[in-house]
Amino acid sequence: MSDKGDIDKCSFCGREKKEVELLIAGIDGHICDRCADQAHSIIREEIKKENTFDLDGVKLLKPREIKEFLDQYVIGQDQAKKVLSVAVYNHYKRLTQRVDDDETEIEKSNIILVGETGTGKTLLARTIARMLHVPFTIVDATILTEAGYVGEDIESLLTRLLQSADYNVEAAERGIVFIDEIDKIARKGDNPSITRDVSGEGVQQGLLKLLEGSVVNVPPQGGRKHPEQKLIPINTKNILFICGGAFDGIERKIAQRLNTKVVGYSAAKNSTRIDKQNFLQYISPLDLKSFGLIPEIIGRLPVLTHLDPLNKEVLRSILTEPKNSVIKQYIKLFKLDGIELEFEEEVLQFIVDQAVDFKLGARGLRSICENIMIDAMFDSPSDSIDKLPITKTYAEEKLSRSGLQRLKAS
Ligand code: ADP
Repeated sequence: MSDKGDIDKCSFCGREKKEVELLIAGIDGHICDRCADQAHSIIREEIKKENTFDLDGVKLLKPREIKEFLDQYVIGQDQAKKVLSVAVYNHYKRLTQRVDDDETEIEKSNIILVGETGTGKTLLARTIARMLHVPFTIVDATILTEAGYVGEDIESLLTRLLQSADYNVEAAERGIVFIDEIDKIARKGDNPSITRDVSGEGVQQGLLKLLEGSVVNVPPQGGRKHPEQKLIPINTKNILFICGGAFDGIERKIAQRLNTKVVGYSAAKNSTRIDKQNFLQYISPLDLKSFGLIPEIIGRLPVLTHLDPLNKEVLRSILTEPKNSVIKQYIKLFKLDGIELEFEEEVLQFIVDQAVDFKLGARGLRSICENIMIDAMFDSPSDSIDKLPITKTYAEEKLSRSGLQRLKAS
């Protein structure tokens, strides 16, 4: 009598052991490698559908809640946080709006953030990404050039978005793209008909197409290295673009428009004294135009906001207050070795002063700390200590021997 039960078979497809590469045994059945693979893809698809980018099941955070979330990671920059929170909230609403509800269609409001380098533009964008359930990508505008030139085509922006959406086109079409250093593609020179401007106006024109909302053919692997790849059409109508830039020197344009002068730039007697620290708060689309952004681009970035320069007080808070502040990270690193690390307040002030001296802004805090802490991180895991107080004398000594100090001297 042949007993079918004796032959090991996949309980899903019925293939016998000899027909498959691998047959995994369970309590009451078997699964072959192919079915396991297929089951895995199904699970991935379902998760993608149900969790990652499905807005229906997602709790919609209100603008105030979004700002509270940002507050945990980004110090200050209240105005920018408010504007971003509202924009992101509206973006969600736009995505969930039913077109047949009534005649009014909420239009998307792309955003432009203007602020000195190292003041938190990218950090804001990254933090937004943490809490979002839409695909998100950060791209540097400086790598973009007009099609046919060395560099990346503008469509590559969308390739990255598509990749971060795991090639789910529908999800990518509702994503957010952060374009950093948008100021670097400003038109060089005042004359609009100046000779060919490969990385400037040409790129702006290309970008315009994406910002406006159109169907763009995107190479899924990006770049021009794979000419054989099949292009994927992506509609950018619902993609939110957030642009950031330092716009070095734009204070002067603002000053000119305000009919005054940047403090220290002119000794004109009758010039209104406007604190240079606050100059960016007066920024208007006109200033972006004088800086070299074409009016069409400005028109497609209707939400304009600024980031404040970081003063000592803010830098001091950045050191310890954010959820993953530099100092908290060191304390954790040492704790893992059973060492209690302590920073005297004087040391923290010293680090801030140095960051200001080096003119490195918030970005300098980390490298200064690294130079102070490198020896301790090297030695203490082998030393049998359970406490390590970092004093100002210690910090001064370590920093004076570091490469950073030479940077200051030069
Ligand atoms: P930007 O994009 O404006 O040039 P980043 O966002 O890249 O600057 O900031 C560089 C680093 O400085 C961040 O990773 C963060 O550690 C720190 N930083 C800058 N601004 C802030 C801020 N407002 N709050 C907390 N950390 C900040």
